[in-house]
Amino acid sequence: MHLRDSHGRHIRKLRVQLTDACNFRCFYCMPAGSRFQPASRLLSVREIESICAFLSMLGVEEVRVTGGEPTVRPEFDAIIAGLARTPWKKFGITSNGFLLGEKLPLLRDAGCSHVNVSLDSLDAGTFRAITGSPHFRKVIAAILRAKSMGFHVKINTIVFRGINDGELPDFLAFSADHGVEVRFLELMRVGPAIGEHAERFMPAREMLDRLEIHDTLEPVSDREDSTSFGFRSGRGARIGFIASESKPFCGACSRLRLSATGKLRSCLFADTGVELRGRDPLDYPEILQEVMAMKPTGRLPRIHQAMNQIGG
Ligand code: SAM
Ligand code: SF4
Repeated sequence: MHLRDSHGRHIRKLRVQLTDACNFRCFYCMPAGSRFQPASRLLSVREIESICAFLSMLGVEEVRVTGGEPTVRPEFDAIIAGLARTPWKKFGITSNGFLLGEKLPLLRDAGCSHVNVSLDSLDAGTFRAITGSPHFRKVIAAILRAKSMGFHVKINTIVFRGINDGELPDFLAFSADHGVEVRFLELMRVGPAIGEHAERFMPAREMLDRLEIHDTLEPVSDREDSTSFGFRSGRGARIGFIASESKPFCGACSRLRLSATGKLRSCLFADTGVELRGRDPLDYPEILQEVMAMKPTGRLPRIHQAMNQIGG
């Protein structure tokens, strides 16, 4: 079955936020003094499994767990095992990498094949300044372990003017050396990043210009609904750009989002959604139509909710 919204977009991907809590404190994502949802408000293991299974029957093909930091959810293992009972075309996770290493065998056994790790610096000091965490080495070890275990591994790197933009060539070299794709993200106007935006934002075009000084870059073709546009470098690096601000991809967006408390949302920038918790699965087709009708056609300028709350 194909899910289409009122503008004909094929909706086939689902982001599932397991928690809004996190063990890092990235300055652009997590506001100081953040408070998290109490455990009683979170969808249970069974609710996550059954909601996702129903959405799969209605046409969702790919699932990715996210957060906050998904690995800090105490029931992480059971949730992954539950999601594994649905036959996804693609099952992935986005993680900060800190607890990921120890979860990799479980993820592999559950059929999770795609691992995205957020890593904004290759320098331990800058990493600490950005994330508040001293565990840079542990994150690198998890990335290399995931690669050696056969996962499709991508690194997500937000490029901030004046903080890590000098590391663009280092990331290019890291990609070539380790066979890991690096995707450079533009800073989006989300939550605490709104206040930093004017000073820190760097457009993808400028990142590309700076990288081309160091290596030749050949464009590669991406799926129509891909959020990134990719290149292969002469020295074998694979890189991509997620230019959500300068080149929004809303026209081809194929995503839905399920929040940790059970709200189905149509867009990262839409601060409303429809509650699925407690609803009869027979109502899901109607609810899906309602949510898809909320899906904006173009990029909304900003959202004041923090990214850990939305489920990035
Ligand atoms: N904790 C996990 C992680 O960091 O990978 C998963 C959740 S995190 C909210 C998902 C992604 O959102 C990360 O790659 C993070 O860098 C990105 N992100 C958070 N705030 C952002 C912003 N304002 N602009 C662009 N990307 C952002
Ligand atoms: Fe945590 Fe990810 Fe947000 Fe960083 S970006 S604070 S790791 S949820």
